[in-house]
Amino acid sequence: MDISVVIPLYNEAESLPELHAWIKRVMDANHFSYEIIFVNDGSTDRSWNVIEELSKNNPEVKGIKFRRNYGKSPALYCGFERAEGDVVITMDADLQDSPDEIPELYRMITEDGYDLVSGWKQKRYDPLSKTIPTKLFNATARAVSGIHNLHDFNCGLKAYRREVVKNIEVYGEMHRYIPYLAKNAGFARIGEKVVHHQARKYGKTKFGLNRFVNGYLDLLTLWFLSTFGVKPMHIFGFLGSIMFLLGFISVAVIGFNKLHDMYCGNPYRLVTESPYFYLALTTMVIGTQLFLAGFIGELIARNAPERNKYQIEKEL
Ligand code: UDP
Ligand code: MG
Repeated sequence: MDISVVIPLYNEAESLPELHAWIKRVMDANHFSYEIIFVNDGSTDRSWNVIEELSKNNPEVKGIKFRRNYGKSPALYCGFERAEGDVVITMDADLQDSPDEIPELYRMITEDGYDLVSGWKQKRYDPLSKTIPTKLFNATARAVSGIHNLHDFNCGLKAYRREVVKNIEVYGEMHRYIPYLAKNAGFARIGEKVVHHQARKYGKTKFGLNRFVNGYLDLLTLWFLSTFGVKPMHIFGFLGSIMFLLGFISVAVIGFNKLHDMYCGNPYRLVTESPYFYLALTTMVIGTQLFLAGFIGELIARNAPERNKYQIEKEL
């Protein structure tokens, strides 16, 4: 099979027949063998009835129905598990992404050798309240992930080589950072294609402004996991050592001052009058806590299922 199209959806019943007809038109015109996997993420409208209806009349339509709403990442994860095509394409169900982009995305994966191609909605049809924070968000994501050629991390329209989706684990709300996940898994050929974007035709957006707060926290988590995930002591131990070093210097200063006071100054001055006393106290306490966090982190990392998972590209 050439292509699997994975479509996560939450209450998008009106769009589905139109989207299906459009994808079918593009696929037939290019003679692709394909499947469309609709992942119904706990919709409360008629979405599932529509998918059942489509699947009855079209063998290429497949459906997964969640019992409740889990989010876009879990929906993608389950779609990825099911996908059988050589190239996997994801797109939103709301008709904002155009299926006309599919042939070129397919070509970039199969001929240009990209592992992942992300869409770039260069001209967006979304409210300003969304486009401006998105620019900031993408700049941070570029800096943290080191993937400098992507303008639009969170574009729903993306194409992947099959190995990529089978070797990354999208969870929580990590769908915003799939290129980063792919890069961490060793898929470094990441490209971009300018894609057409349209205003939402039916329904309304499913993500509010808290997407940006959560988005930044997730980015921080990913950075931490990819840098120190299996060696937490390297960060906590480092910070703890700095704290102890500051503590020892403070103690030395206190001792020196005390000797000085005893022999040529004020022999009755208490060490608690010195600011270095408080510095020594806090840095030692914080340093101990950091080391403890490091040891506990190591204990947890030792039991993590990923501790010995490596991406082996080839074996003979
Ligand atoms: N979506 C989903 N589960 C959710 C929220 C959204 O499957 O909990 C789907 C949604 O139906 C759409 C895609 O994810 O197909 C992108 O959502 P939306 O269009 O609301 O995001 P936006 O375009 O505003 O970023
Ligand atoms: Mg949308």
